[in-house]
Amino acid sequence: MLEGLEEIDYFDEVTHWAKTSETGDRAELSNLPESLSFWRHIDARSETCLGQKCIDFDACFITRMRGRALDADIVVVNHHLFFADLALRNRMYGSVLPDYTAVIFDEAHLIEDVASEYFGSQVSNYQIDDLIRDVGAVPYEDAGADREITQTSSRVMRFADNRVLYFAGDTNVFSDMALIEQLYHPELAFLPIGDLFTMSPREAAFACRLLRAKKVIPMHFGTFPPLTGRPDDLRERIAGLETAVWALEPGKPVEW
Ligand code: SF4
Repeated sequence: MLEGLEEIDYFDEVTHWAKTSETGDRAELSNLPESLSFWRHIDARSETCLGQKCIDFDACFITRMRGRALDADIVVVNHHLFFADLALRNRMYGSVLPDYTAVIFDEAHLIEDVASEYFGSQVSNYQIDDLIRDVGAVPYEDAGADREITQTSSRVMRFADNRVLYFAGDTNVFSDMALIEQLYHPELAFLPIGDLFTMSPREAAFACRLLRAKKVIPMHFGTFPPLTGRPDDLRERIAGLETAVWALEPGKPVEW
């Protein structure tokens, strides 16, 4: 669950805090980095909460908070908790706040923004990192399916020096490549250009415009006759871009 020795101290801190905290509110740990890998395994999320099936249901901070709220005649919460509760209703956990007959909103000038947080859709680079890691961790019993998924999935790889590589696998161009560019700014992209099951040079040129990588390595071409795409074709199609086509030669090592 931990990625790197430096996370051990942070995890110890969270473990100690969880035994002493009255609220379980992560905001109490403001000194801990948002990027810690173990957050996604330990924080409470509506999409992963098991509700009453959870073995920690009674000890759970949310259950205890709900119990306190149930005993009260008037409950004062901030806008975030109000809308988080509204978003939870009808899901596995049910609700955090007890049922109410009247609601008074105070200081509601930011209320639309808060409501959008819970009823809109958002994606962060950490969530995409999580998703990529989770997809990679799913065990496939069928070796053929496993190989197929590994070959066809596209992925973003960040190296220790923070350079980012985008590997397109056996995919075609898709509009979310613009999102990948905005979130990760890949410097190098591997794009298939064979024009059979994958992109052609024309489609790869669109991908280059979306990804805006400094270098593109064409792949999946020239190995058998039906793969007709060629690096020179891609090079001509992106002549006006600041993206160089880096055609590798078999057996010749290169450095990036
Ligand atoms: S009940 Fe509490 S501890 Fe259990 S899964 Fe839900 S949020 Fe987590």
